[in-house]
Amino acid sequence: MWFSKSPEDVFKEFGVNPAVGLTEAEAKQRLEKYGLNKLKGKPKKSIIALFLSQLKDMLIYVLLAATVITFVIKEYADAIIILLVIILNAVIGVVQEYKAEKAVEALQKMTTPKSVVRRNGETKEINSEEIVPGDIVILDAGRYVPADLRLFDSANLQIEESALTGESVPSSKDAGKLLTDPKTSIGDKTNMAFQSTLTTYGRGEGVVVATAMETEIGKIAKILDSDDNEMTPLQKRLEELGKTLGFLAIGICVLIFVIALIQKRDLFEMFLTAISLAVAAIPEGLAAIVAIVLALGVTRMSKINAIVKKLPAVETLGSVNIICSDKTGTLTQNKMTVVKQYTHNHLTDVPGTEEDLVATPDEVELIKSLVLCSDATYENGQGTGDPTEIALIILGDKYNLTRAALNAEHKRVGENPFDSDRKLMSTLNVEDEGYRVHTKGAIDNILKISTTALVNGQIVPLTDELKNDYLRITEEMSDSALRVLGVAFKDTDKILPPQEMEKDLTIIGLVGMIDPPRLEVKASIHEAKMAGIRPIMITGDHKNTAVAIAKELGIAESIEQSITGAEIDELSDEAFAANINNYRVFARVSPEHKVKIVRAFKAQGNIVSMTGDGVNDAPSLKFADIGVAMGITGTDVAKGASDMILTDDNFTTIVHAIEEGRNIYNNIKKSVIFLLSCNLGEVITIFLSILLNWPVPLLATQILWINLITDSLPAIALGVDPGDHDVMKQKPRNPKQSFFAHGAGVRAVIGGILIGIFTLVAFYYGLWEHGYQLGSGEISEAALAYARTMSFVVLAASQLFYSLSMRSSTKSIIKIGVFSNKFLIGAIIVGILLQLVVISIPPLAIAFGVHFLSLQDWLLVLGFALIPLIVNEIIKLFTKRLEVQ
Ligand code: ADP
Ligand code: MG
Repeated sequence: MWFSKSPEDVFKEFGVNPAVGLTEAEAKQRLEKYGLNKLKGKPKKSIIALFLSQLKDMLIYVLLAATVITFVIKEYADAIIILLVIILNAVIGVVQEYKAEKAVEALQKMTTPKSVVRRNGETKEINSEEIVPGDIVILDAGRYVPADLRLFDSANLQIEESALTGESVPSSKDAGKLLTDPKTSIGDKTNMAFQSTLTTYGRGEGVVVATAMETEIGKIAKILDSDDNEMTPLQKRLEELGKTLGFLAIGICVLIFVIALIQKRDLFEMFLTAISLAVAAIPEGLAAIVAIVLALGVTRMSKINAIVKKLPAVETLGSVNIICSDKTGTLTQNKMTVVKQYTHNHLTDVPGTEEDLVATPDEVELIKSLVLCSDATYENGQGTGDPTEIALIILGDKYNLTRAALNAEHKRVGENPFDSDRKLMSTLNVEDEGYRVHTKGAIDNILKISTTALVNGQIVPLTDELKNDYLRITEEMSDSALRVLGVAFKDTDKILPPQEMEKDLTIIGLVGMIDPPRLEVKASIHEAKMAGIRPIMITGDHKNTAVAIAKELGIAESIEQSITGAEIDELSDEAFAANINNYRVFARVSPEHKVKIVRAFKAQGNIVSMTGDGVNDAPSLKFADIGVAMGITGTDVAKGASDMILTDDNFTTIVHAIEEGRNIYNNIKKSVIFLLSCNLGEVITIFLSILLNWPVPLLATQILWINLITDSLPAIALGVDPGDHDVMKQKPRNPKQSFFAHGAGVRAVIGGILIGIFTLVAFYYGLWEHGYQLGSGEISEAALAYARTMSFVVLAASQLFYSLSMRSSTKSIIKIGVFSNKFLIGAIIVGILLQLVVISIPPLAIAFGVHFLSLQDWLLVLGFALIPLIVNEIIKLFTKRLEVQ
């Protein structure tokens, strides 16, 4: 067993040198031998299974029954058409579902966890899937353990293993332990780390002993259930609506059938008509359309660096009215440069590029501590690690106090890693005969744990006067937007445990570094404000630094709009919530404050998005309406807890995502309102004709055909309508607002009525043209077929044309550009062509009971078909002035 073997034995067994790692060639070979490091998922549905699942639907059963009946009574053409409709419907369903699934899959790929490994002597990040047995893996806080590891190095390493043991308290790991009892339970194997568990603290290194299904978790979870297809709130609401409308449609169809009975019409024909109408009118496709529009939208968002992990987030994005954003890296570039340093009574500017600078003895101590107390590296112009620390390494290089030389002389023997609650980091390094603690961090915290100060090489008591000196310099630096870091040290003759390092220190001085704001952020902040969204800065940094940058970016105007974590702690939850709207900057906050901030904003009825990257940010990300994790600097934990990931860590991306979210919601609305207008148009046509005691203007097969053409392509094309930039000039949508608010419902009704009426007008005209007057005597079959052809074309074409008008509720189609949605134009052309095909190819024409139209009548029906569109455009002109919000 691996836990009872020494690391050296394990290295030998896997043929790896831990300092170098595997070679790429070896890793490649092993990957072929052992396969990808991933747990088996549920087997995917085959295309056939997908296809069959489309047929499991009440409506389809009804249609199948209708096929059988038509077949039995030898109406073969009708039987075949209905069957075709069923098949085509299922095919469209499969294509939609497949496309949506592919989109979601591609997104999941983008968020697959990565791991840090050592290969070819270099430390690098690879996809966790590519890890092979024998790989050397480096663990740090916030990362998932990618495979089963035998640890051989650990520093305060803590791992939360609830995925495996159910125990949610992290267990402390110790690479040096050798366990001999072969019955040691998983929870007690302190020299091992297991796949899918989570590093919560410290650092460690291990050699991979098992991957994929060979791991402990793989043995337990033979099959990973990754099926979490949750519906978005909108999808749920639309499904409800679909059901209600469905019952309504069925009611109307029954009513039509009953009236037809009383009117003594042909029973079989009416039966088919009623069924077809029911099939056409029941908006069973609503949820499917929403799913595909969401999936396509989410794919588009990933191209602008926003990966949406949970579909409901897309809807919520459109309602966000507060963006809480981290400062460092999101609002700023996270490219730090030390520009000032201060030791007692000695403030110097650090030049940008010069090297071989000469430091005073105090400054040498300052820089030495900073460099030793950093994990970052900087070689050949390439830095890895925390940008704050990279800046410190570069500072050291300028003074010839290089990381390599210092670390060689003063080996690190202990550490207390940085965390954003303490805002401190300490290391314990060898110094002369003993050891020295080097601590860096937020200046207020450094002053709290220091009792002495270094003044011209002497350690003197830290008087109030001295303290005020440091604070005054800090204020000065912060006011000019510098990030300030204090430094302290103490000597000891024994190895101290982490919790004893940070007390009774000697403060050496401080450094100030610039972190320029991201250039594009200022414009985004302006845009957000125009869109009724309030940007808020959240930072662990000093209040003055934060406010200086906030002012520069236009987030805040004065220091009164800021509050610190300590000040928040003094307020009751109620008092804090009551005042929350006054603040734009929250400085010196810890992750736990973030939860409090989100809660207070939400208590005031806001829809809040919150960014985060660290392990401790997970609660606030979960609690926010939209939790946003950083893609570059974010930990796996933060990503796991988030709804959306920014692949570029950029504030601007959040604003873009909100714009996309608003557009996607609007597009869904367009599709749905369009579908409802069409269905209503079909119902009105048939219902009115029955009430008026006319012959039915459309045959069952014709209704089914039209429904197929209009419910598929145009609806999807509307769903991918190009975004309207003006959405960012409107207020965020109230999430409680009805889907039919702002006249959307009215538009559907008006559209339906117009489409229905002009279909009937075309029918009436077709008969009149042939010299028949409705209601007076028998009508010849030929004339009826001709008139039906006219209503057939008008019903289909008017729906297709009307879709153009759906693209905006306020802007005319001329203004948004008739041809600016190429897909929609394509869908309309395809639809019209298909009508033409059905009418002009004789066998099809006979099957559908249609007749070829004269050129004049073609022009006429297309003219009729344009009227609903034109009327709706005129309505827009008139309501525009009323609707200005
Ligand atoms: P933010 O990301 O909002 O700037 P952080 O939590 O990263 O806030 O940092 C808060 C404070 O902690 C900083 O102002 C700095 O004083 C200190 N700090 C940041 N990074 C380090 C580090 N690597 N080591 C020691 N102290 C740090
Ligand atoms: Mg930070």
